[in-house]
Amino acid sequence: MIPLAADYCIGCGQILDKLEPADSRPSWIAGGVYRKMYGFRFTDLHLTEAVCPPCAQDLKARKDQNLVSLVARLSSGQKKLGLFLALETLAKK
Ligand SMILES: [Zn+2]
Repeated sequence: MIPLAADYCIGCGQILDKLEPADSRPSWIAGGVYRKMYGFRFTDLHLTEAVCPPCAQDLKARKDQNLVSLVARLSSGQKKLGLFLALETLAKK
């Protein structure tokens, strides 16, 4: 059997179900549930690293948090530059 290509989230390990999504749209489900549902073994799947929407949100929030703490640690001279860079990074999102 040729391994089936599937996206799995590097944040929470869920797999994107494109085969038979519950609401006819691809949905992220737990890896174990996914394999049981279709009777897959690990070797049946060719997993591609991806990030599910909730983890992407979480990642974004953490990045913003990092920027805030980074700016807080800078000296006043560096702060202006740090704030500028932080704002520029946020504007790019
Ligand atoms: Zn995830």
